[in-house]
Amino acid sequence: MEKKKISRRNFLATGPAVAAGSAISSCGVTQEPEGVHGTPPSGIPLRVQSLMSVLTQKGLIDPEAVDTLIEYYETKIGPHIGARVVARAWMDPSFKIRLLDDASSAITELGLEGIGNSRADLVALANSGQAHNVVVCTLCSCYPWALLGLPPSWYKDFAYRSRVVIEPRAVLEEFGLELEEDVEVHVWDSTADLRYLVIPERPEGTDGMTEEELIELVTRDSMVGVEKLNPFQPEGRA
Ligand code: FE
Repeated sequence: MEKKKISRRNFLATGPAVAAGSAISSCGVTQEPEGVHGTPPSGIPLRVQSLMSVLTQKGLIDPEAVDTLIEYYETKIGPHIGARVVARAWMDPSFKIRLLDDASSAITELGLEGIGNSRADLVALANSGQAHNVVVCTLCSCYPWALLGLPPSWYKDFAYRSRVVIEPRAVLEEFGLELEEDVEVHVWDSTADLRYLVIPERPEGTDGMTEEELIELVTRDSMVGVEKLNPFQPEGRA
């Protein structure tokens, strides 16, 4: 019998309750109190606006510089950068070995050193037919921004952060990813000092593709580990 798939919206709505109270995580991000996740954070935009007003009036920030920074992360930095790393790993086995050994160093071969402002080390995790890796930040929302851009809202949601470490297979099924029983599932908890990039398996049907063509196939979710890339089907084929 086909298992019922739950939309991400429903998944987030059915997650466990958030622990009461606020706390500052190891990443310096304020954790939101019970009931805030899943509902529009109506107070936060106001707090941000107020803070920006004060800092601007005091001459401590330039609003145009803030806008530029936001635009940079919204338009210039994104999953297409992580996809370059993945495609290179698929094309070049020796690069993949270096990437798995020391990802922070290996990505400099692609000219990716110094992008973003992350001081965290990067670790690459290769998915295979025997092992599947999925990434989370249980404390807040640590994420390889420099490679994947802005994190999706579900990544920051308490339902994902708490459940994926307890019942990863169930959570992955809700994302539409059902793994064979003999596949080991590894959940990696990000921190302020350590970020992870999943190298998904290269899809079937991609032999002979160029690196640029492969880049187009790599999705953000596959690099977090909540999606497996489907076999490539050329347009026009059923
Ligand atoms: Fe975090």
